[in-house]
Amino acid sequence: MATDNETGPNVALPLREVDPDALKVVRKLLANGHETYLVGGCVRDLYLRRRPKDFDVATSATPEQIRKTFRNSRIIGRRFKLAHVFFGSKIIETSTFRTTPVATEGDDMLITRDNEWGSIEDDARRRDFTINGLFHDLENNRIVDLVDGIPDLDRGVIRTIGDPTLRFQEDPVRMIRAIKFAARLDFTIEEETWQALLATVGDITKCSRARLLEEIYKLLRGGASRRSFELLIEAKIFPYVLPTYIDLFKERTEVGLVRAQRFPKDEPLPPGYHPSRLFWEFLDALDEYTSETGQSASNGVLLAILMAPVIDQEWINASRRDLDRTIDATMDALCGPLGIARRDRELARQILMAHRRMVGPTKRRRRPSLVQRQYFHDALVFLGIAVQARGEDDGEFSHWQRLAATAAPMVASEESPAHGDKRPRRRGGRPRRRSGRTSGSGRSQRAGS
Ligand code: ATP
Ligand code: MG
Repeated sequence: MATDNETGPNVALPLREVDPDALKVVRKLLANGHETYLVGGCVRDLYLRRRPKDFDVATSATPEQIRKTFRNSRIIGRRFKLAHVFFGSKIIETSTFRTTPVATEGDDMLITRDNEWGSIEDDARRRDFTINGLFHDLENNRIVDLVDGIPDLDRGVIRTIGDPTLRFQEDPVRMIRAIKFAARLDFTIEEETWQALLATVGDITKCSRARLLEEIYKLLRGGASRRSFELLIEAKIFPYVLPTYIDLFKERTEVGLVRAQRFPKDEPLPPGYHPSRLFWEFLDALDEYTSETGQSASNGVLLAILMAPVIDQEWINASRRDLDRTIDATMDALCGPLGIARRDRELARQILMAHRRMVGPTKRRRRPSLVQRQYFHDALVFLGIAVQARGEDDGEFSHWQRLAATAAPMVASEESPAHGDKRPRRRGGRPRRRSGRTSGSGRSQRAGS
């Protein structure tokens, strides 16, 4: 975060961290007489001296005007019309200032219409949290803060713009977003926002399955998955987003899924607690992988991680056929209700089956042909995370990494890398010796209470 004497709207943001293509888009629209800014998450992250994931642009130009300004662009969206400006595989999302949408008839505040053009003030107010409502004025290298977002960034606070109950009712996905930002930035959810979230939690069922699933994946790959899931449980959202997952734990042990705080390090486990402990250990290991490698795990790896603590006991000794059956039954429970894509499900199955071979008895595993499989990269990533989660020796991982290095060039899995255009820095994540936690500590103790 900016230091004490480096706070406020006049703090110069490190423009060398801004994607040059995003700067091009802003400059060209400005040159054509359109009021234009970098906006949202990238301004927040630059202010906090974090590397932004992507760069969004907000402008007074209409989608049609944006399209005419850039030959390399096209208009997308039915509900929200905005422009994508393409630079190779990179997209700079460029949207026209919009007003706060008008609530639909009746009591239901869910937004269904959201396409009225407006001013920069309107556009700031329709955004979710104050820390996400900031604009960057490139000509003066200063931040335009119309929602008191900078003081919240300085204090480390997540607060909705406007009445929190209304904002969560309008779009319940914002509850999960609040948790995502609190966990990822190690921020606290402001009390009124937190209370409104607790009171509105049931509305989450009104969100589309596809948006919910995408948010769950984002929580998992955000680098603070453990803290995110702790907060999901604390806010009592978990049973709404992953109901059948909780049932899977209940089916296996009387204690069900137990909160992370129940596992002080290195204390012996009471019976029945093993799957839960493993669940949190897997999330820790995933977070470590994300922060160490800077890569995002594919959806297949994320699903395999969710499945692993549930099937752990059946793993090594089961016959191939029995394990396949267990995986299928578990997947049915998890994937159907969430609307998980068939190819992600299939990749998770392949990873888990490969894992049995990779860690099993020697005669089962020493088949170098595995290295040639499309899913091998993901299976190796999963192995690294699993070894770390279980606190095991990393000999198996090194063995497969060596095999991979000496084998013919791998056919990259369609799923990897799953997100963004980052190139893998190395295959798999090297498991480190266990040493303290990477998340779940510090200021974000829930978020307040
Ligand atoms: P990330 O680093 O995860 O990309 P982000 O803040 O950039 O975080 P995006 O989902 O990329 O999040 O959205 C970009 C911006 O759009 C946000 O910063 C916020 O201003 C606005 N926004 C996104 N989702 C919503 C929403 N559900 N309601 C209101 N505004 C939203
Ligand atoms: Mg973003």
